[in-house]
Amino acid sequence: NGILYSEVRRPCRAMLLVNPHSGKGQALSLFTRHVQHMLNEAGVSHTLVITERPNHARELVREADLSQWDALVIISGDGLLFEVVNGLMEREDWERAIQTPLGILPGGSGNAMAASIHHYSGAQPVSSEELLVSCGFLLCKGLVSHMDLASVHLGSASSSPTRVFSFLSVAWGFVADVDVESERYRHIGAARFTLGTLVRLASLRVYQGRLAFLPADNAGRVDGRPLCSLVVPCQNNFHNSCNSNNASRARKHEPVPADAPLKGPPDSLLVPLDQPVPSNWVVVPEDNFILVLAVYQSHLGEDFYTAPESTLNDGIIHLLYVRAGISRIALLQLFLAMGKGTHLANNCPHLVYVQVRALRLEPSSPKGLITVDGEVVEYGPVQAQVHSGLARLISR
Ligand code: ADP
Ligand code: MG
Repeated sequence: NGILYSEVRRPCRAMLLVNPHSGKGQALSLFTRHVQHMLNEAGVSHTLVITERPNHARELVREADLSQWDALVIISGDGLLFEVVNGLMEREDWERAIQTPLGILPGGSGNAMAASIHHYSGAQPVSSEELLVSCGFLLCKGLVSHMDLASVHLGSASSSPTRVFSFLSVAWGFVADVDVESERYRHIGAARFTLGTLVRLASLRVYQGRLAFLPADNAGRVDGRPLCSLVVPCQNNFHNSCNSNNASRARKHEPVPADAPLKGPPDSLLVPLDQPVPSNWVVVPEDNFILVLAVYQSHLGEDFYTAPESTLNDGIIHLLYVRAGISRIALLQLFLAMGKGTHLANNCPHLVYVQVRALRLEPSSPKGLITVDGEVVEYGPVQAQVHSGLARLISR
């Protein structure tokens, strides 16, 4: 990572992957109206590929002759970028493939990555078409930066462990539930999250489980208390009693056969999910949560500025969790503050924020949802470690 950024080749040949159903279903018309002429003028020649089904982009990218392309650009929400990242990481030549510059144009209802790169460019917050134009402009500039990925291990009771790569988030509890439940309001665009939040607040629930992490900085503090005072001895691991109530919604990932050569970098910070976390990890004392959120970019939505300190490749997982016991009104205030990114300055006693390199979450509530980059994954124990700057993204 000695070189902070480079430029895409000119003239640039970009594969543009469009999810015709993302957001309000207007990704393609928004692109032709607002961005296509900019790309033409900037000498970005592009081939449009309209996805036909979930995982189509993932399969295409897994098989593609990448020497034909200088950039892979998605016009969609974060879900399609998740497919592309994982398609690249599933290739035999993953190490080279994941170096392919990626681009994103917001066309979905959840445009966290687009909102984040817009923010990193130093511009004032915008949304909708203005965000699209801003990201189109970044694409025309063609500056490529490294981007962190997290390697996420999923281990449900019913299947063998799997590993996926994530560029944005792991979520459990309130935020994951809102993300999934608000799918039904997809037609109202990004406002679906606001509506979903209000609906969820009315039927607030507590989620039980255990959370542990490896601090990014050993001198770090949680809640004003030195980290070491929070360490509880790691007993035997939780017995995983999770049933996957949402198994049918969960995106299926290939199990990793024990003898298969590992595609992707080894996870030096993690031990298998059925073993206790290493002794230098912190196990948080709480086991009742409203939400647990691990994010590696600044925004989790156009109006959701969750990790103000995050940058594209800081090599840090920004971990936020809210303890049970918070009142509905305080939680609502917290979400309103997150819209502006002022939540960490508010001294909310139920909110904990810590910067980590790896984490493990073991839900013990029998039912619930876990999302990775906004996509539902199998419910059960999950752990992740960050890989600093593993991918490359057209941004800045
Ligand atoms: P949004 O932000 O609106 O949810 P996403 O890009 O996240 O948009 O896409 C939502 C889901 O649609 C993702 O799970 C993605 O894999 C899936 N998908 C991609 N292409 C198609 C398609 N052609 N038809 C249906 N679903 C698709
Ligand atoms: Mg980051």
